[in-house]
Amino acid sequence: MTLDPIEWMREFAALVDENADALTEFDAAIGDADHGSNMRRGTAAVVAALAESPPETPAAALKQVGMTLIRSVGGASGPLYGTFFLRAASACGENGLDAAGFAAVVRAGLDGIVARGKAEPGDKTMLDALSPAVDALDESVRAGEELVQALDAALAAAEKGRDATTPMQARKGRASYLGERSVGHQDPGATSVTLLIRAARQAVR
Ligand SMILES: [Mg+2]
Repeated sequence: MTLDPIEWMREFAALVDENADALTEFDAAIGDADHGSNMRRGTAAVVAALAESPPETPAAALKQVGMTLIRSVGGASGPLYGTFFLRAASACGENGLDAAGFAAVVRAGLDGIVARGKAEPGDKTMLDALSPAVDALDESVRAGEELVQALDAALAAAEKGRDATTPMQARKGRASYLGERSVGHQDPGATSVTLLIRAARQAVR
């Protein structure tokens, strides 16, 4: 069983659309209140681009997603999400996104975000959800689990990591300017990247 990147992005766009108000509320509390609208515009553009010129391989699809997000999402999130997908595309082999393939592409994407954003877990960023999700995927692959089980584990880890951002004080990005006042708010980036993992799980039936 493999994950189709196009299905993944359709699910992601739908989840972002459903949760755009919540993303904006979280960003209003500790940022500039644009994460919901930015992500909604970006994921809608991704779905439109994939429909307009359907890529022939999973790697080509991931690359197109990255390019579209960089072009259409503003703020800090566009380059970070874009980098995630461009790095993922580079790591995507011909077998596509089976459990091991998916783990490899998101690991590469995570490494790209770390290199670009210079954040680490505990800084109250998207990494706090993404990093445990990627670790959970690796663990599932090592245990020989199938894609569905691996994605279940990744989603549980992402949700736990996302929830753990609430008591954190931000050390990166705009939220860090708030100092102690950033405590008590769920991080918007950790929230949207958890939707990205949820979308992958929902796209595999
Ligand atoms: Mg913002």
